[in-house]
Amino acid sequence: MIDDRPVLDDHLHLDPDNNRGIDAVRDFARVGGTHLLVVNKPSWHLGVEAETGADFREVFERTIDIVEAASSELEGRAWPVLGVHPGLISRLVDERGFAPDEACDLMQAGIDVAAEYVESGDALALKSGRPHYEVDDDVWAASNDVMRRAFDHGAALECAVQLHAEASEDMTEVADWAEAAGMEPHRVVKHYASGRLEGPTPSVMSDKDRLETAAERGEPFLMETDYIDDPDRPGAVLGPKTVPRRVRWLLENGYDEAIEIAHVETPKAVYGIDTEATLERDG
Ligand SMILES: [Zn+2]
Repeated sequence: MIDDRPVLDDHLHLDPDNNRGIDAVRDFARVGGTHLLVVNKPSWHLGVEAETGADFREVFERTIDIVEAASSELEGRAWPVLGVHPGLISRLVDERGFAPDEACDLMQAGIDVAAEYVESGDALALKSGRPHYEVDDDVWAASNDVMRRAFDHGAALECAVQLHAEASEDMTEVADWAEAAGMEPHRVVKHYASGRLEGPTPSVMSDKDRLETAAERGEPFLMETDYIDDPDRPGAVLGPKTVPRRVRWLLENGYDEAIEIAHVETPKAVYGIDTEATLERDG
């Protein structure tokens, strides 16, 4: 807690294999972090080369297990966000000989399984998206179809969908697809966002420039680090202490209202979670 306030990191990964992940949670908690949304690592990073939707279960269950361990380290709690990393399509098409429509089928099946965990209450939200890099048109179309499957589940389950997508400050078209599927568009969250975004709710990478932009804007936003997303891109993500440290910095600079938006109001509006009621306050 910082000044009795909850502090949420909206998107990070924990490594279930060697439990460095739990050390990261302790670091986060030590400097005032209270709540985490933990996104499963890309399946192939965990050594899972999925051939059916059911093959993703192992990835999801290992994530759920480590989230339970994380919760016991926090004054608040952690929740799992489960899905299929959009970069999987390139791995399937370029390295495993899948046609784009076959890759789409497998990835949709993985999303379907993730949705089962949301339905049973074992996960909070879904994760989907599309490649953040250039791909062929048919791969792009297949990726959009996977994302739209996630929106179908988001509508049916009334849950949020986090997106990994290209760098952009206007994703109104994607938010419109979510709305057409029956979702409330603010429940679509673009992870790794800059400080402003049209369409989905931005989950802002917690560097000072982006946060200042988001705080000045006064619109709903979340804060994240994307800790250990991609071991091939060291330095592309922020460390686990970053969100609490930036909350202190924002408070020092008078952005109290933005802190309330990012750590209480937006989590409630997007995920239906109460970061205040889930805090163990002393006395
Ligand atoms: Zn990530």
